[in-house]
This record gives sequence, structure tokens and C-alpha cells, in this order.
Amino acid sequence: MNIIMLGAQGTGKGTVAGLISEQTGLPQISTGDIFRKNISEKTPLGIEADKYISKGNLVPDEITVPMVEDRLTWDDAKNGAILDGFPRTIEQAEKLDEYLKSKGEKVDLVINLVTPKEEIIDRMLTRRVCTNPDCKATYNIKLHPPIKEGICDKCGSPLKQRADDSDPEAIKRRLEIYEEKTSPLVEFYKKQGVLRTETVSLSINRMGKDVAADIIKEIKK
Ligand code: AMP
Repeated sequence: MNIIMLGAQGTGKGTVAGLISEQTGLPQISTGDIFRKNISEKTPLGIEADKYISKGNLVPDEITVPMVEDRLTWDDAKNGAILDGFPRTIEQAEKLDEYLKSKGEKVDLVINLVTPKEEIIDRMLTRRVCTNPDCKATYNIKLHPPIKEGICDKCGSPLKQRADDSDPEAIKRRLEIYEEKTSPLVEFYKKQGVLRTETVSLSINRMGKDVAADIIKEIKK
């Protein structure tokens, strides 16, 4: 089963993907996490990607698409995957469709998370991530803080704020790019009949974990 997480930054795509991954065994493939791991290890891919990421821009398709296609050939993805942060443009979605078709597969479910804009910005500013690139756990100092301040519950490494979450210009740019380039994917997948839109908001007391629980129940039926 191939699942795609769609939604602006800070809507909780990583949280929902992580919970579904734990319960289904499908790997969570986050392009942002792969880039950040490469940046912290200063690989050639990381050095190139950082030029775009630090400004809040998209990494070019020539780098991103082969990276995802390669990741999908790993053994853990033989029954499908949860793509978190990819595709982000119609071109990427078309390339993904072609790639999956060549393997006799398709996109089975697109989970589109929607959150009011004021909440999104607040969540990006209060998000903290584990500095251990093999852990990558995500926290929110207001909504789900770690047990010990500044320390990851899962692996004990220090937490930090993502560079692109602390720069108001980069936040603004990422939200603009989402509107312009990524939001057309909602229509694209609606036409394919695979779209499921879910509101995640404090105002209705529905968070990522609630959405994940409902979807896991349905997948396991
Ligand atoms: P994320 O962790 O998903 O917010 O991604 C962090 C950053 O990585 C984004 O702001 C982009 O610069 C880059 N990135 C992640 N996924 C993609 C993608 N599918 N295409 C292009 N750039 C991406």
C-alpha cells in the first residue's frame, strides 16, 4: 500500500505518518529527514540541498526524484511506503505515478491534513526535533513536550529547533511555495479518487494522533 501525506508545514504529517508506520510496518519516507541527515553528515547531496532548504525553497527535481525512487527500491518498501513530504509539485506527482506504474503499483491513499494558518505558524515555531539523525523524533514544546526539557524521550539526544523553523522569512517562503506548488495536488489526487482530507486543529480538539488512529483502524479492517 502506498500512502502519501499531504498538507502544509506544521500540520502534523510526520506525526501521522510515524504512527501509521508503527502500526502497519510500512516505512515512513520523509524527504525532509533524508535531506537533513545528509546535511548533518555534510554529504555532497546534503551540501547541495542545503542551499535551497535554508532559504525555504524546494530542492530541484533532478536531486529529489531519483533520491525517492532509490529509497523505494529498499527491501523495507517492498509492500509500499508512507511518503511524507513527497510529492510536493504536480511534476513530482506525475513522476511518482509513472514510477509506481512501472512496478505495477499505484498511490492508494492520500491523507491531506488541513490546519488553520495561525496554528500552523505557532506549531512551526514551537516544533523541536531530535539531533540524532537516526532517531528524528519530533516534539512540540506546547502540545507534546519531551519529559525532560530539551532531551529526546526516545534516545536521550539533545533536541533543537530546525534552522528553517526559526527563520521567519524561510517560514513565509515555505508557506507560499505550499500554496503555489503543492496545494494543486489536492485536486490532482481528488480526481484519482484517493484523497482523504482531515482537519487537524486545537479548535476542534482533533490532533494528528486522532487522525492516525482512525486511519489505522480502517487499514486494519
Ligand atoms: P520538510 O521536512 O518536509 O518540511 O522538508 C524540509 C525542506 O526540504 C523543504 O522546505 C524543502 O526545501 C526540502 N524538501 C523536502 N521534500 C521536498 C520535495 N519533495 N521536493 C523538493 N524539496 C523538498
